[in-house]
Amino acid sequence: MRAKPLAFAAGLLLATAFASQTASRAQSGRGGQSPVYAQQPGAATPFSGQRAYEHVKRLVEFGPRPSGSKELEAARQYILEQLGGDPSAPNLHRRGVGRMSVREDVWLAETPAGKVRMVNIVCELPGETDDTILITGHYDTKRYKEFAFVGANDGGSSAGALIELVRAFKAMQGKTRFTYRFVFFDGEEAVCREWDECSKPGRPDNTYGSRYEVGRLKALNRLKNVRALILLDMMGYDKLELGRDDMSTPWLVDVLWKTARELGYAKQFVERAEGVGGDDHEPFLKAGVPSVDLIQLSTYPFWHTADDTLDKISPHSLKAVGDVVLASLPRVEEKVKGGAGF
Ligand SMILES: [Zn+2]
Repeated sequence: MRAKPLAFAAGLLLATAFASQTASRAQSGRGGQSPVYAQQPGAATPFSGQRAYEHVKRLVEFGPRPSGSKELEAARQYILEQLGGDPSAPNLHRRGVGRMSVREDVWLAETPAGKVRMVNIVCELPGETDDTILITGHYDTKRYKEFAFVGANDGGSSAGALIELVRAFKAMQGKTRFTYRFVFFDGEEAVCREWDECSKPGRPDNTYGSRYEVGRLKALNRLKNVRALILLDMMGYDKLELGRDDMSTPWLVDVLWKTARELGYAKQFVERAEGVGGDDHEPFLKAGVPSVDLIQLSTYPFWHTADDTLDKISPHSLKAVGDVVLASLPRVEEKVKGGAGF
């Protein structure tokens, strides 16, 4: 009843995007073969579920990691270290790491609890053009006074997977036409107890980091270059079952779900609607950027509970998402480069 893996199709996708970058881009999306990937259906991309899992484990070990906390600062230093930044540098502004730049965007967010220092981690791999695809997730966790909330899935899985996505992406790619920006958002979680308890019109109490990034790009007149956004949020559950978020851009959801079927991940990317009702993709959608949220909310029983712990996370689930994201990129590029899909 589930779709069978189509390893050859996956190989084609990957070959198109990463193995034959220097060939004529006019052939993109159709030509090319990758015998390596075609012969290894179990290793659809270099994304390692085990590496991603180890990152989640390390992040969880820092304890609860709400915005502005010293635990989140420690988690941030860990992420920067993994990305290849220098954790001893007080400010990594535009510090180049090879071709890749890693930096911290720091600001004081106005929250219902007063000003909170927030920091997005921005990792950019420049392409031949300024056309940009964003791959994102949050790394803060929800603050609770009543219990220790370590957010293995909620905050941990997205951050751990993003670290590994950067490594796998670098391992795969040659020179790409698109610029890729990986952003670890701070302040996705509300400061107040409920998601919108303290939200006011035009001033939501959540999604601080993503709104900051949209504002920053607008100010730099660079938002127009952002052609698509992929958001990871709560995607590491052992019983991973991602539904189609009804707020996300339909063609982008279709691309990811089609790729998932071809890679044999139909069990993880299921055919049902997921009603999230706002996440870090929302500010981008409002700004006109095609966006997709990969999130398991309604069928994750441990959401915002003390039981959102490491034992709920599986390397295989993390790999399913990592593989699908990486293998989808050629199709996303193909779709947006001609302005189609808007
Ligand atoms: Zn949450």
